[in-house]
Amino acid sequence: MSMNSVSAVRQPALTQPDPTRITVAYGDGIGREIMEATLAVLQAAGAPLAYDEIEIGEQMYLQGFASGISPEAWDTLRRNKAFLKGPITTPQGGGYKSLNVTIRKSMGLYANVRPCRAYTPYIESHFPYLDLVVIRENEEDLYAGIEHQQTSEVVQCLKLVSRPGCERLIRYAFEYARAHGRKKVTCMTKDNIMKHTDGLFHQVFNEVASEYPDLVSDHYIIDIGAALLAASPDRFDVVVTLNLYGDIISDITAQVAGSVGLGGSANIGDSIAMFEAIHGSAPDIAGQDIANPSGLINAACLMLTHLGQNKMAATIMNALLATLEDGIHTADLFSETYTRQRVGTQAFAQAIIERLGQAPSKLTPVQASTMNKPIEIRLAPRLKMSKKLVGVDVFLDWTGDSRDPNELGRQLEIVAGNELKLKMITNRGVKVYPNGLSETFCTDHWRCRFVAQAAHLKANHDGLLTSVPVTYPQLTQLLDRLIDAGLDFIKIENLYEMDGTRAYSLGQGE
Ligand code: NAD
Repeated sequence: MSMNSVSAVRQPALTQPDPTRITVAYGDGIGREIMEATLAVLQAAGAPLAYDEIEIGEQMYLQGFASGISPEAWDTLRRNKAFLKGPITTPQGGGYKSLNVTIRKSMGLYANVRPCRAYTPYIESHFPYLDLVVIRENEEDLYAGIEHQQTSEVVQCLKLVSRPGCERLIRYAFEYARAHGRKKVTCMTKDNIMKHTDGLFHQVFNEVASEYPDLVSDHYIIDIGAALLAASPDRFDVVVTLNLYGDIISDITAQVAGSVGLGGSANIGDSIAMFEAIHGSAPDIAGQDIANPSGLINAACLMLTHLGQNKMAATIMNALLATLEDGIHTADLFSETYTRQRVGTQAFAQAIIERLGQAPSKLTPVQASTMNKPIEIRLAPRLKMSKKLVGVDVFLDWTGDSRDPNELGRQLEIVAGNELKLKMITNRGVKVYPNGLSETFCTDHWRCRFVAQAAHLKANHDGLLTSVPVTYPQLTQLLDRLIDAGLDFIKIENLYEMDGTRAYSLGQGE
């Protein structure tokens, strides 16, 4: 790592405000070319920035750092408020962890913000009025990266969703909408199926939305939401969603805007933020001076806005739009109708520099953001819920003689003992015992639900039905009996009531 080693960049003149130190990484493939172009534009615009360079990416992977980053680089990342990152190449093969995911999660970069707009007619899109922002949860969901093979036939990936994780992301989305003069925030989940994980996200969305009566809020199930984003994206303004859905819909949105090569994204945390182009390292065109630097320039403008340099960001974006409008295009944007001059990466940056101070005449100019300071999120106090153990799901690796659920059920009825009873068995979530259907296809992975032997539900003193508690010794003794019976349990999930409400899903057909 070298301090101030970005040779293309001079320190700003003394008359300018104190520069903000940021971290810069060139990355791999076309990274160096597009970063040089971007830094040249920032310098020419007079952005008051100072730079610390770190090395990340392929070279670091190949030197044995499995996350693609050297241990010293973390100090620089933590010292500076912002990180402008070039794309990196993730080597093929096992053992390498995604650097992006590592940085996002280690640095608490919880919100992935991807603005997307159309640049028609210069960039072809069916939706000239498309102008929306996808705000994606960045740390949780299936990207927790917790996967296990449990039987010969079944692997699992844990989907983790936390209330504070949902809350700060959703609050960020509403605060972002306010700060940027947006009118509507749309939530997308699949809570008709995943009632507890996606259900929590939707519930927190409704709670937070009620605090922002000045903004319209609505919700779509992700499948129809994604279809509408592809068919009529101009109806959306700010979209907030979970990690995996956000990953997918932000690419759909960029694609229908016709501008994947132009898009930038911000990864926002409480104290640090990372900015990058949405495309990858494009090794097929690296070193040829033909890559389009617009995505990274766009990301740099998101960074300037985040750092409070809103006017500077608008100036650069408008010069970029004026360049596109003047028909000065890199090869990827070439069009018979609109391209007047086909240029390379550095010449494109030079054309932007020549237009600093100009606004586009046909494309809608970018207004300086009304955001006057980084968004700060305060979470509601964390309340401890009351928790009652009411049963257990034991997962078994079992085939028996013929994978007959009734054979397994008969065996488990005995193993359940005097204090617990077998309530049901499911296979891939579908009830197969008691009274399953012979048509249900079964793998070697069985979820066996045990509850208290006393009637599952009893009336409490108010006459309300309540579950009978079970104890931890009852669970461990059950596991001992399973071992004695030669049954291979893979894992257990305890069943709880939280604040008196069932906090686990029912089996399909239960
Ligand atoms: P890619 O985005 O690098 O390239 C896809 C296609 O788009 C290629 O034909 C490429 O030439 C073109 N392209 C991309 N950026 C361009 C630009 N600025 N100007 C002109 N053309 C451009 O995606 P890929 O080929 O799937 O991935 C290549 C590598 O990048 C992989 O190792 C992947 O893991 C990595 N990657 C990194 C990031 C990141 O660092 N954030 C994101 C995506 C992919």
